[in-house]
Amino acid sequence: MIVAIDGPAGSGKSTVASTLASRLGFHYLDTGAMYRALTWIARRDGTDLADGPALAALAVAHPLSFGLDGHLEMDGEDVTAPIRDAEIDRLVPTVAGHPEVREVMRQRQRALAVAGDSVIEGRDIGTVVAPDAEVKVFLLADESERARRRTQDRPGVPAETLAADLRSRDERDAVNTRPAEDAVLLDTTVLSVDDVVERIAELVERVR
Ligand code: C5P
Repeated sequence: MIVAIDGPAGSGKSTVASTLASRLGFHYLDTGAMYRALTWIARRDGTDLADGPALAALAVAHPLSFGLDGHLEMDGEDVTAPIRDAEIDRLVPTVAGHPEVREVMRQRQRALAVAGDSVIEGRDIGTVVAPDAEVKVFLLADESERARRRTQDRPGVPAETLAADLRSRDERDAVNTRPAEDAVLLDTTVLSVDDVVERIAELVERVR
């Protein structure tokens, strides 16, 4: 079974999706990490972020490895922390905006999804990567709440900078961030992580 969890930055996707996956005993796939790691290695290697075909070739040559302990590795380096940098936040929509890059990533995501029951989080999972997913959820939250959550995730970066970054990322990611027609919309603004996980677990039970 596939559970697709989509939504914008700060909507609660990562915490909810990883908590749900461990509760259900499902694989957890963070597709945002794949775009982030590609951005990280492109910066390291000096690849032009405007060159879609070059970035797609880089993605083919350097797949992200998901460790069982939650650590992420690329090209032999532990990238778990560096890919969450505010600078990567700013650059990743440029990389993710190239159709050539998305094609490589989507193929890999589909290949990982057939490995078994999975919770997959991203932006285009219910619409493009796994349109047949048995459960589709699109998470939403007020902009101010999403910005507040970001300040907790990115200590040391001024709140105004994070709020501006979030708005800019929303705009640039908008084209690839859509709820599927059959997705359940869940506003997480005033819900706890446990409440959101519980609601999605109920949706899973209904189709099991
Ligand atoms: O979810 P997260 O904030 O880690 O995603 C980082 C970036 O990766 C997004 O801002 C977006 O540009 C890109 N992304 C995407 N499609 C996905 C997942 C992430 O375009 N399925």
